Order: sequence, then structure tokens, then C-alpha cells
Amino acid sequence: MLFKPKFYKKRITDITPAFLKKNNIKAVILDVDNTLATNKGKILLGNVPSWLEAMEKGGIKLIILSNATVERMSGFANRVGLPFVGLGLKPLPFGYFRAAKRVGVKIKECAIIGDQLFTDVLGGNLAGCKTVLVSPVELEQTKLFNIKRGLERKLLKKYKLPCEF
Ligand SMILES: [Mg+2]
Repeated sequence: MLFKPKFYKKRITDITPAFLKKNNIKAVILDVDNTLATNKGKILLGNVPSWLEAMEKGGIKLIILSNATVERMSGFANRVGLPFVGLGLKPLPFGYFRAAKRVGVKIKECAIIGDQLFTDVLGGNLAGCKTVLVSPVELEQTKLFNIKRGLERKLLKKYKLPCEF
């Protein structure tokens, strides 16, 4: 069950501060690719800026955790005005611990929001934070990703969760 997300929402913008508070989540650790943005962070998803604003107004702490290089992440993080942990090595839990510490929230009161079962969700479960799976916005074109997405479809079916890709 290490790959099973606690919650599922189609898009990150479907998550509200009220939903997070109800589930005792005080900080959100954010994946970038296919969660907040596409094309390697170049294209921010519509409504993400106002979603980030609503989260901050709602008192939810936000931090980016990405496996991308610090160099690539710092450009993106600056653009959206968020702190970040780069070279996160997800699914290892250490990046999650660093992110929780940076925002000053206990790991069990954090939630990762991401689109991949084998990195975002697995890492979140290993670290002991809550996990919210979102559906990838567009599918990757590499062979490795085709295999991973195929396995994810099978697992989502097994978990009786929606598969919208
Ligand atoms: Mg992603």
C-alpha cells in the first residue's frame, strides 16, 4: 500500500484550504511537472497563480519539492514566489523532511501533491506525510514513462481510484 495515495483530486486547483484544514494539513509540498506546470516548468497551469494566492490567504504553507536541478527549479520558484527544495531525490523521504523543516510544520501535518505514484506518493508515504494524487495534465513521450503510466493505471484500478489519463 506504499503506492496508494490518501486522497485523489483531478487537478491541483480542485483542492481547497477548507479541505486541507479538515484533514489537519497545515503545509503543502508541491510537485512541479504535471502538477503545477507543463513543459518542464515552462507553462504554468491556468488558475495556478490564483490558487496559490487562495492557499496563502487560507494560512496554508507552500513549498516546492522537485527532482529537477536547483538551477532549473530556482527560475520556476522565483516566478511563482515560492520556496523550494531542489534535487529532491523523490521517492527518498529526505527531501520531504527538508521541505517540512523549511516551512516549520511537522511532517505528519504536511501533504505532498503530485502526479506520480512511484515518486510523489511513494516518497510521501515513506516520509509519513499525507498524499494527494492529481492526474497528469499531459502524458510524457518517453518509453520509461509509458511503462510507468501503464503500471499506475493498473494500480489505480486496484485501489478503485479514478484514472483520468
Ligand atoms: Mg510530476
